[in-house]
Amino acid sequence: MSKSGTSALDSLPVFFAHALALETEAAERYQELADVMAVHNNPVAAELFQKLAGYGHQHAAEVREMMENAESVSLAPWEYDWGGVEAPETSAMADADYRMTSAHVMQMALKTEQAAHDYYASVAAKATDDEVRRLAQEFAEEEAGHVQYVKQWIAKNPVTLEELPEDDDPAHMPE
Ligand code: ZN
Repeated sequence: MSKSGTSALDSLPVFFAHALALETEAAERYQELADVMAVHNNPVAAELFQKLAGYGHQHAAEVREMMENAESVSLAPWEYDWGGVEAPETSAMADADYRMTSAHVMQMALKTEQAAHDYYASVAAKATDDEVRRLAQEFAEEEAGHVQYVKQWIAKNPVTLEELPEDDDPAHMPE
């Protein structure tokens, strides 16, 4: 654990570890969703997820670059603390499966980006380390941009969202 602190709020290395986990895992999930949409003949939705996966990979790469100039820590799975924010980017998509309609997965994408925003915003609000606060603020703004992007995409593509039939037994959405 970092000598400068023990949580993402007071330690830049711990914050980086959280950001890297969040972005990497989200990018991987989006990539899976992009592949599922492509297989299910929904190239427009596939393109959206490809784009969101790209944002995640790009953000993870930026974080990795910042980490090169900082002390680094590696956290055990139970050492991650998402600060009471309901879902980090990954768990919002835990229930994704191939039967989900594109309307469902769009809502998941929206939740995912919103959760990422909420996590960074809560860190920015509570951080005691100046650099953590500054970066968390910056990341929160980026995520707010992704939220807008997904919302606009949904507004522009109602037909695409209606193309897939509803399931008889829809997957349970986390509230
Ligand atoms: Zn994002």
